[in-house]
Amino acid sequence: MYALRSNQRGHWCSLCTKNRAVKRSKYYTFYSCDECLPQAIEKELEEMRRESHMTEADHQTWGRL
Ligand SMILES: [Zn+2]
Repeated sequence: MYALRSNQRGHWCSLCTKNRAVKRSKYYTFYSCDECLPQAIEKELEEMRRESHMTEADHQTWGRL
């Protein structure tokens, strides 16, 4: 997770939706407050795993051409 810069503040936490977010995910797909950070880290890891799977599939597709 990445800390939001002061000019990026103002988003709501995507997990609890009641606190202001202090962090964002790598791809800006969601935001998290301090309270939800442990879950947010899990979610981000999952997202990164999904992303690397896609990249792998792309390689396989291109490799066959
Ligand atoms: Zn939260």
